[in-house]
Amino acid sequence: MSYVIAIDGPGGAGKSTIARLVAAKLGITYVDTGAMYRAAAVFLNRRKIDKDDDKSIEKAVSDMDITFSNERVLLNGEDVSKKIRENDVSKMASEYSVNPAVRDKLTALQRQMGKTVSLVMDGRDIGSNVFKDAKYKFYLTASPEIRAERRYKELKERGEDIEFNKILEDIKTRDERDMNRKLNPLKIADGAVLVDSTDINIDGVVEEILSNIEER
Ligand code: C5P
Repeated sequence: MSYVIAIDGPGGAGKSTIARLVAAKLGITYVDTGAMYRAAAVFLNRRKIDKDDDKSIEKAVSDMDITFSNERVLLNGEDVSKKIRENDVSKMASEYSVNPAVRDKLTALQRQMGKTVSLVMDGRDIGSNVFKDAKYKFYLTASPEIRAERRYKELKERGEDIEFNKILEDIKTRDERDMNRKLNPLKIADGAVLVDSTDINIDGVVEEILSNIEER
């Protein structure tokens, strides 16, 4: 029987690093839904569609296909894995992700992925909406300061020139938008196990998650 492990939480909490490790340990597929929202933002932004132009967004998303191939994110076949990690794309993704047509399209793609194989899927609404009946649900969080520090290091390593305070501010604005939007806001799903990574390292968090999984 296939099963789903849903890991939700705010930006920079370490979801993708941890979800990837958990999936590797269990030998199952990892799906980063944030990457899908980021790719959608790149798609819509390239078409110069305003984030509030619901009609044009709804029309455009029918031409949008997002898939994964060996952990690369493909937007209509083009590898956008690097592009989607730029800091500006975080903000755009959070803005376009309030749109119902974007959410419907990506939610459908995500549900399709979980139909046949076991998955670890991370995002904002996986346990509360996409896979409400997921066998395992976690809510991974950390203080905004720690999350900003981790993002800062990541972006520096990638050569982006950015100030720490700007990142902290961006993280707080994004939390606010993700937690307060009308459709499928970020929240702790019913039955989710809360994991705070502020004072635990990556291995500790992975261990804590795995200790809840029967199939380990
Ligand atoms: O996880 P990541 O920071 O890459 O996500 C980028 C943005 O995509 C989030 O700020 C959020 O607005 C949106 N998102 C979402 N639902 C998901 C995953 C991401 O709305 N399941």
